[in-house]
Amino acid sequence: MLVKAYNIKKKFDDVNVLENISLEVKEGEVVSIIGPSGSGKSTLLRCLTQLERVDSGKIEIDGKVMVDTKDGKTVYADTNTLHEIQLKVGLVFQNFNLFPHYSVLKNIIDPQIVVLKRSKDEATKIAMELLYKMNLADKSHAYPCELSGGQQQRIAIARALALNPKILFFDEPTSALDPELTGEILKVIKNLAKEKMTMVIVTHEMAFAKEVSDRVIFMDKGFIVEQGTPQEIFGNSVNQRTKEFLSQMN
Ligand code: ADP
Ligand code: MG
Repeated sequence: MLVKAYNIKKKFDDVNVLENISLEVKEGEVVSIIGPSGSGKSTLLRCLTQLERVDSGKIEIDGKVMVDTKDGKTVYADTNTLHEIQLKVGLVFQNFNLFPHYSVLKNIIDPQIVVLKRSKDEATKIAMELLYKMNLADKSHAYPCELSGGQQQRIAIARALALNPKILFFDEPTSALDPELTGEILKVIKNLAKEKMTMVIVTHEMAFAKEVSDRVIFMDKGFIVEQGTPQEIFGNSVNQRTKEFLSQMN
């Protein structure tokens, strides 16, 4: 099991944003998370990738405990362990988050040098291989502002892959894109699924979630309301809230 999360709770101010969330992700699995805006999807990804801290619960990534609650006390692992766990995960954001004043190549090379201590030569070689894979080798010297949103998002995916994560999290990777650019990102993610990359994808693209996922999780108001295979969720969910949500999406 690559991800094990049990009874995660998280409040912002006095509002419960995650309520007893438990989920597991196996190696090679593709899990989609769907649900209305404000249901806690981004917060869940941010807790699993250490951008936020949970109030209580247990999270284990690839066998290493990030945080655990025992006897009412929630304790995070030491800095070294947290860093080790951090190296296992990648996160791709809605808004790409590229450095605007860095070239495409530098955006992909720098994290490898800083985080993995790779040599510049090795980092450059890996960056170029990924740019070929993303069909963007000719853009290596361009700046993010010179690229389309779809191209920028492919660079962001290349940057995440360059750090060899065991699992990649996507937070609405296409929702900042014009509809005609969405397809190119979904294709990249589908190809990664074929290569058996473990992925957790928050998305509003229901047809895509149905096609690419092994499992779909429906969240609402901080709870996991239902989870199952795409057939179970999209085909014949008997849950009223799931049905209402899906009918609004079409
Ligand atoms: P989703 O990604 O499903 O739209 P979010 O995880 O972004 O949901 O947000 C869940 C709830 O937590 C929302 O009510 C949101 O306003 C609130 N929230 C998210 N981030 C913060 C924050 N940093 N401070 C306060 N409230 C937040
Ligand atoms: Mg969100």
